[in-house]
Amino acid sequence: MVGLSTAWHLCRAGLEVTIIEKDRVAAGSSWGNAGWLTPPITTPLPEPAILRTALTAMFSPNSPLYVPLRPDVDLLRFLLGFLRHSTSAAWRRAMAAYVPLNRESLEAFDELAAGGVREPTHPTADFLACFREVEQHRLLMDEFEQIRAAGQPVTAELLSGDEVRAIAPAVSAAITAGIRLGGTRFLHPPHYLQALADAAMADGVVLREAATVTQVDGGTPVRAAGVRVRDASGEDEEIRADVVVLATGSWLGRLARPFGVRMVVQAGRGYSFTVPADPMPEVPLYFPMQRVACTPLAGRFRVAGMMEFRKPGDPLDPRRIHAIVRATRPLLSGADFDDRQDEWVGSRPCTPDGLPLIGPTRSPRVIAAGGHGMWGITLGPLTGRLVTELVTTGRTPDVLLPLDPLR
Ligand SMILES: Cc1cc2nc3c(=O)[nH]c(=O)nc-3n(C[C@H](O)[C@H](O)[C@H](O)COP(=O)(O)OP(=O)(O)OC[C@H]3O[C@@H](n4cnc5c(N)ncnc54)[C@H](O)[C@@H]3O)c2cc1C
Repeated sequence: MVGLSTAWHLCRAGLEVTIIEKDRVAAGSSWGNAGWLTPPITTPLPEPAILRTALTAMFSPNSPLYVPLRPDVDLLRFLLGFLRHSTSAAWRRAMAAYVPLNRESLEAFDELAAGGVREPTHPTADFLACFREVEQHRLLMDEFEQIRAAGQPVTAELLSGDEVRAIAPAVSAAITAGIRLGGTRFLHPPHYLQALADAAMADGVVLREAATVTQVDGGTPVRAAGVRVRDASGEDEEIRADVVVLATGSWLGRLARPFGVRMVVQAGRGYSFTVPADPMPEVPLYFPMQRVACTPLAGRFRVAGMMEFRKPGDPLDPRRIHAIVRATRPLLSGADFDDRQDEWVGSRPCTPDGLPLIGPTRSPRVIAAGGHGMWGITLGPLTGRLVTELVTTGRTPDVLLPLDPLR
């Protein structure tokens, strides 16, 4: 999402753009995510409440958060940094950086639509958070209070279980309360990413798939930068460019580190699958206590969840899928969890302070654009616009200053 959005904007600004993708369009985290565009809840991940969940549930394969016990220096650095930033004060600081981004994030999708991206985004007044016990809604309402206090508007209305079912009849009688959240949209991630790639290519962006960047040369003020690229047959090639944008999601660390980016980008792996539902919910559903996110996608319902700190390339662990099924089946009586398709694992690019890494590195010709964690779909198009402003003016937009990749 981040790479394609950036390519689209750079090309519109009149630059010649080549995308080097090691696999294919939407091979990374941007494929199987929940597709929520939810600025009111686009907030930093490290916070005191997540820490409490983590400490009670961390090492169980059934919990929504899983940290395998294995020696890994980067994972340890990530966890210690995450711990340090899980305070109210650090959350407020990071949230202050999100507020101006959230203000513009949906409008950035309208800009793509006006510029020829054919797949729609779906505004909804009925994004629903669902709870088994009435008191549980308090946790989310308290969170909204803190988000409002940080300057981010949130409109939320408390609903009864029956009011939730009137909007989404597939929700089971186990749900006794809900919250209707305003100001959100959702999209079909695979369709949207393909439409964005098609629009970028129609404008002249060159897309090279099955080509891996193995090394980056930062150039000098007078000499172009470059990348070494290995294609599927193992052939190496050097490509020179005025600017290289690293938008490699959870794989950002290795290529960015030689340019002074010391912050760890840790894969926070999430899982998803789709199920049929009758009647099919027409709106996204959120089960905050189970940390499960659901979205209607072209006739099926995508169910997504889990946060597993492992390597991005590790294989899918079926135990996580089963844990999501166990947590969600009692809450969605209208869904058939035995008819699962598109089982998927993907890696949220998480940073210890919960903020993306966007901006110039030690080489002004190498720009980092990644580390969006839970929110790279919501913030992808805006990131592309801001990176393009940086590249074309040579000046870092003010909203990017707290996201400095060298912090
Ligand atoms: C279960 C789940 C649910 C989520 N739900 C939401 C949601 O509802 N809303 C939201 O906003 N966000 C959501 N997210 C987060 C979101 O998916 C990510 O933040 C976002 O997709 C990151 O986009 P990206 O472009 O930075 O990375 P990616 O989509 O991972 O793209 C990186 C690309 O770089 C390529 N690449 C890597 N290394 C190289 C190399 N050396 N050479 C060439 N190519 C390379 C990869 O193949 C990949 O295609 C969710 C994530 C998960 C896992």
